Amino acid sequence: MPLLTVSCLSKRFADGALPVVNGLSFEVEEGETFALLGPSGCGKTTALRCIAGFEQPDSGTVSLGGQMFTGGGTLVPPERRGIGFVFQDYALFPHLSVRDNVLFGLGSLPKRERGDRADEVLRLVGLGGFEARKPHALSGGQQQRVALARAMAPRPRLLLLDEPFSNLDALLRQEMRERVRDLLKREGMTALLVTHDQEEALSFADRVAVMQNGRIDQTGTPEEIYATPRTLFVAQFLGRTNLLLTQADGEEADTVLGRLRLNRAVHGSVLLSIRPEHLALAATPDNAASLEGTILGREYRGHDITYRVQLGGIDCLVHTDNRTRFGPGDTVWVRALEPAVVLERVGEVTP
Ligand code: ATP
Repeated sequence: MPLLTVSCLSKRFADGALPVVNGLSFEVEEGETFALLGPSGCGKTTALRCIAGFEQPDSGTVSLGGQMFTGGGTLVPPERRGIGFVFQDYALFPHLSVRDNVLFGLGSLPKRERGDRADEVLRLVGLGGFEARKPHALSGGQQQRVALARAMAPRPRLLLLDEPFSNLDALLRQEMRERVRDLLKREGMTALLVTHDQEEALSFADRVAVMQNGRIDQTGTPEEIYATPRTLFVAQFLGRTNLLLTQADGEEADTVLGRLRLNRAVHGSVLLSIRPEHLALAATPDNAASLEGTILGREYRGHDITYRVQLGGIDCLVHTDNRTRFGPGDTVWVRALEPAVVLERVGEVTP
């Protein structure tokens, strides 16, 4: 049985307005790190607040470990849900020391145990020695770790993380993501993260649900949703891609990139997605399936390069490592390394 079950959750803030959360359903397994990923305003925070009990949904249910929290006439208050929350702005008490911030959530434990647990989690997050500091005397990354320690200290059954890394600079963000993920796994904690950052969701979570307009488009492992997006929205939200509109005849289709294998058999008009790194560039035709094109532009990004190539009347993107040396006007040969992904068309019925 999943630990958290969210079923058909809906919430609108004004009569007649569109729902901000619109029939949202997903499950999180015990010990899993799960991310809700979507653009700003798609309803992620509202969904999280409904799960925590800070917001009352109009309909739908939320249950944790088989206990109904919201729905069927039940509404368990936030403090009785056993859920920890790390807010985007950390929400630390400015007048309390680091240790007292962590102790705050431990009121239910006997006094001596409280101190031991606060010291233990502060050590876990790498803040041993910072106990007496006030939040204003800490860096952003350190404040974030205090917020995390405070939320983890009472050993919540579920930890909710609302864009917890967004206030950190790029390097620190990456480091904190790794640290927090390790910590959650070491503590066997179940966590639900909301973020608009696709790289964050893909690198942090065991499974990701991609949201738009208050509902989920697709749920899967990071590899599944990136490699085989189901919809145009998911394909484009997770990274750059080449889109091809064509006719398919079973497991292959003729396209401007030549005859491509498809990830699933389909007949008739199709919209295909092929990622820039699933195409290869060469100075000579190294394969019968290579097609001639011309380099239009080059975007050097240190560890890799993205080329814009004109080919068969379209511009396509091709990703290479940083050792290629093509420039605008060069003739190149392009070939597909992976099957193209068939995207679901509006109105298409998936069997
Ligand atoms: P972000 O990534 O920018 O935080 P989000 O996906 O978390 O966005 P929400 O914060 O859930 O989105 O907001 C979704 C929509 O609901 C927004 O248009 C927002 O303005 C609106 N909204 C959120 N809270 C309220 C409220 N209390 N009253 C009225 N509208 C609200």
